[in-house]
Amino acid sequence: MSTQDPSVHNLAGQCGLALLYHATFASPPALLGQALHNVAPETLFRQLEALARSYRFVSVDEYCQAPSLTGLATVTVDDGYQCVPEEALRVFEALQIPLAIFLNGSFMEGKLFWRDQVRVIMQRGRVAAFERRFGEAFQRDPGQSFYRYTKDPRNSSIRVREMLDAFLEKEAPIDGCTEFYTQKTQKLIAHPLVSYGSHSMHHYVLSSLSEDEQWREIDGNRRFLKTLGGVQQTSVFSIPFGGNQDYNDATVRLAAEAGHSAMLLSRGVVQGGTVHRDGRLPMVDRVMPRDIKVADLLLDLQTRFNASGH
Ligand SMILES: [Zn+2]
Repeated sequence: MSTQDPSVHNLAGQCGLALLYHATFASPPALLGQALHNVAPETLFRQLEALARSYRFVSVDEYCQAPSLTGLATVTVDDGYQCVPEEALRVFEALQIPLAIFLNGSFMEGKLFWRDQVRVIMQRGRVAAFERRFGEAFQRDPGQSFYRYTKDPRNSSIRVREMLDAFLEKEAPIDGCTEFYTQKTQKLIAHPLVSYGSHSMHHYVLSSLSEDEQWREIDGNRRFLKTLGGVQQTSVFSIPFGGNQDYNDATVRLAAEAGHSAMLLSRGVVQGGTVHRDGRLPMVDRVMPRDIKVADLLLDLQTRFNASGH
């Protein structure tokens, strides 16, 4: 194609790209504040359109099993925000790019995602009030922020969630928040471009849990997804948070035992030509594009690729 952006072309000749998006609100709800990872549909379109000039976008399953990633790209969307089918699906349809949506079963039952509870407490300026009541219960480094230490693997996510619930119970109600996520009462989309996968039941930091607790998170959500018939599904597992510290050997073993075919990380790494394996499963790195211009995104991707030692 004559309109090929040289840097997209170069990048596609060097590496694969597994992209990770979350919310895609045209105007994000003020309640969730600045900490929400949001890319507006307009930006999403520009980013994917530019990358599609040189990359071939494939399903997440095809990507994870590909013998070589070079020139391949895939789009994954975590956490099941309802704005994705409502506001972003038209982008994927216009570009004919497949997407895999990774759901957490508990969000579909009308419960506010506990990381969004964290965001609400920050946005309302209630962190100090939370810390007066629960600060002692946390392991934290000096200066480690509320946003960070609540997802530190030293603190059991289950306990953290209980404290957030107990705190918010006595706070002003959070109205309309459960509508952020796809609900059980809403139909998942049966669409040739859309497949659904597991992101665990509650999005806990899996490495902060016992093996039994991890199993309930991994196998429980996989079984929950099986009850959602009539839609395309992927057996790839998206690790909540997706950093090195967020999972352990047990996570990989249990995910394989539950029937998953690959694991998605989100370490901000642009991978070279081949997929790494950790024990029994392929481990695929993803990058999170921010709501930025195409030129800035390409620069960021190239910098990340160079930093990965290639
Ligand atoms: Zn997530």
